[in-house]
Amino acid sequence: MIEFRGVGMTYPSGIEALKEIGFVVDPGEFLFVIGRSGSGKSTLVKLLTCEERPNRGNVLIDGYDISRIERRYVPYLRRNIGMIFQDFRLIETKSVYENVAFAMEIVGAPGKLIRRRVPIVLSTVGLKDKSDMRPSELSGGEQQRVAIARAMVNNPMLILADEPTGNLDPGNSESIMALLDSINQRGTTVIVCTHDSSVVDKMRRRVIELEAGRIVRDDRRSGYGTAPELPGETPAEQPEEPPFEEMAEEAERRAAQEKVDA
Ligand code: ADP
Ligand code: MG
Repeated sequence: MIEFRGVGMTYPSGIEALKEIGFVVDPGEFLFVIGRSGSGKSTLVKLLTCEERPNRGNVLIDGYDISRIERRYVPYLRRNIGMIFQDFRLIETKSVYENVAFAMEIVGAPGKLIRRRVPIVLSTVGLKDKSDMRPSELSGGEQQRVAIARAMVNNPMLILADEPTGNLDPGNSESIMALLDSINQRGTTVIVCTHDSSVVDKMRRRVIELEAGRIVRDDRRSGYGTAPELPGETPAEQPEEPPFEEMAEEAERRAAQEKVDA
């Protein structure tokens, strides 16, 4: 489903953030990317969301080379990815409910669906009672749970979390990880970047470790983790409808319509 092939990324400043990165993540896998600050974790995330492009190699999602896709397709790619950040990135002027609803509004979801789904997702993260509160009225752990609700509400194929527990105490970190784990158990692929090894040790999942932009450990082969089989040994389960075909068609239709309208 996700593949990095010989990926290298050098920032314009000349810093080589990633060197010869290669790995495969199967649909439904849970992967930790660990490494100390500056090792390249966030850069790897930014390549998956097309916030940055690699200088060398390819990043593939469902066989599509997203390192080469046109700018206009990027929003369609991002619809299928739920993002979670260390600093939550909630909208302060909106309530908990509105923060989550907004993620559905911007992808054009119908109001009826929004009104049905937002309360369900808020219950899932244990915040139904706090729907009307503002982010500033919540604890850090609660704010991160709102961010998780927002990330999952459009039912993405992938959840990407960059240091999700970086601002949280150990208790809250544990409940955030448990929540990500339960989302993964319902079939969503989850990638969590962290420099906090205590979080990783408890979970017993696949770990890729970066050091100065290189993979120095990928313990999938050791049978420790969610997918001990090597690629090719078992057919990877593909999502029923690979989304990009549809997304690309939608973009084409929209572009054609814009031409007609002009
Ligand atoms: P991590 O998330 O593991 O802390 P990053 O991917 O943020 O690592 O950074 C990897 C390296 O790339 C670091 O040396 C960092 O200073 C550098 N870097 C990150 N972002 C930029 C940027 N926008 N411009 C230049 N250098 C960057
Ligand atoms: Mg980082």
